[in-house]
Amino acid sequence: MAHILLVEDETSIADIVRLYLERDGHRVAVVDDGAAALHALETTTPDLIVLDLMLPHVDGWHILRWVRSQSGVPIIILTARREEPDRIAGLDLGADDYVVKPFSPQELVSRVRAVLRRTHPSSPAEPLVFDGGALVIDPGAREVRVHDEVRHLTVREFDLLWVLASHPRQAFSRDRLLSLVWGSDEFIDPGTVTVHIRRVREKIEPDPSAPRYIKTVWGVGYRFEGDA
Ligand code: CA
Repeated sequence: MAHILLVEDETSIADIVRLYLERDGHRVAVVDDGAAALHALETTTPDLIVLDLMLPHVDGWHILRWVRSQSGVPIIILTARREEPDRIAGLDLGADDYVVKPFSPQELVSRVRAVLRRTHPSSPAEPLVFDGGALVIDPGAREVRVHDEVRHLTVREFDLLWVLASHPRQAFSRDRLLSLVWGSDEFIDPGTVTVHIRRVREKIEPDPSAPRYIKTVWGVGYRFEGDA
């Protein structure tokens, strides 16, 4: 059971999403405007946030940026804004998934499950330590530390880094990374991988413009380099 914060101002949608999530065994708190969402997030830490973008008072973009400046709590955006630049911007700002209205409530429940599964793996592996401890990737805690400082990665960013770092010196194509990290049951723009790689580099690389760890393999994709 997970504690889910649902931020949605359309009552009919909030009601049905709450119903489906509760039926799936989750505890759901609903807030119907952006200011109330920020207030709720100051006092509680949910396991996952389902976030509408068009909200009264404070919009979802602001909430997304605020949450990402504080933590790696998984966020699924739920929105009527279907245009590609919005989807890319949402992922770029650190959302873990993106569901466009109108949507199937059961599909949303499945995505919530998938994100939670990635957040709470059942049998965590040993931490990976690189460069004498300069970079530590701990899958149990789902934590990344650079020189002992915790870097907050989203669920997808962590999964992407883990796939690469647990197979050092092995090149992965963008398509392969898409299917490993995002699943292959739907079409996702391969540009999504590029966006996430850039974000991970900004969080872990000493110099993101000359990556030490995540190398670009021209014409193929990416590979991880680091002294284990
Ligand atoms: Ca709305």
